[in-house]
Amino acid sequence: MNDPRYEGMRERMVESQLRSRDIRDERVLRAMGKVPRHLFVPEDMRRHAYNDEPLSIGEGQTISQPYIVAYMTQALELQPHHSVLEIGTGSGYQTAVLAELVDSVCTVEILPGLTSRARKALDDLQYKNIRFRIGDGALGWDKFAPYDGIMVTAAPGKIPGALQAQLRESGRMIIPVGVAFQDLVMVTHGRHRFNRKTLIPVRFVPLVRSS
Ligand code: SAH
Repeated sequence: MNDPRYEGMRERMVESQLRSRDIRDERVLRAMGKVPRHLFVPEDMRRHAYNDEPLSIGEGQTISQPYIVAYMTQALELQPHHSVLEIGTGSGYQTAVLAELVDSVCTVEILPGLTSRARKALDDLQYKNIRFRIGDGALGWDKFAPYDGIMVTAAPGKIPGALQAQLRESGRMIIPVGVAFQDLVMVTHGRHRFNRKTLIPVRFVPLVRSS
C-alpha cells in the first residue's frame, strides 16, 4: 500500500502540480501528499493516478484532476473543527482529502455501486470520520446541517436552494455551475445574504436529477 514508487509520484505531484501553481495552504498540501490516490482508481489505471489530469474510472464517473481537488479544498478555508458536506462521493478520493482536514465529513452519492466501492477504499484506509448516504445530493443532507463547508463535485444548471440553506452562517460552498460550460462558484453565507463569486472555468459531470 505504501509502495515507494507511488510515494515518489505523489511528492512530485504536490511540488509540480500544486505548490508551483497557487496552492499555498500547507494543510491542503500535506493532505494531498498523504492520501494514496492510486487506491481510488482501478488497478489498471494506477500508473496514471498521479498525472496532471482527471481520469475516467467507469460508470460514467471521473476522479477530478489533483489540482482541481486541491484548489476547491483550499478555497473552503477549512479548519480542524469544521464539518463538511460533499456532494458526489465518486471514487471517494476527494472525501479522503477532506477527512484529513476536518472533524467530520458527510458525503452523498446517487449511484449505490460507487458508494460501496468508495466506502470500501475509505474503510481500508481506516477513516472514521465519514458518513455515507445514497441519494440525490441536490437535497443535501439535512440531518447533520448546518455545515461549515459544502463541496459539490457534479455540476447543476443552477445552485440548489437546499444546499445553500444547509450552509452555516460564515460557511463557504464551492460548486461548479452551468450546462455546457461551467464555472466554479464560491457561495458565502454572510450575515444578511448569500454572496456569489465566480472563480475559474471547469468541466464536471452533470449533477443528475432524481425527479
Ligand atoms: N469527488 C469525486 C468526483 C466525482 S464525479 C472523486 O473525487 O472521485 C461526480 C460524482 O457525482 C459522480 O460519482 C456522480 O455519480 C455523482 N452525482 C451525480 N449527480 C448526483 C446527485 N444528484 N447526487 C449525488 N451525486 C451525484
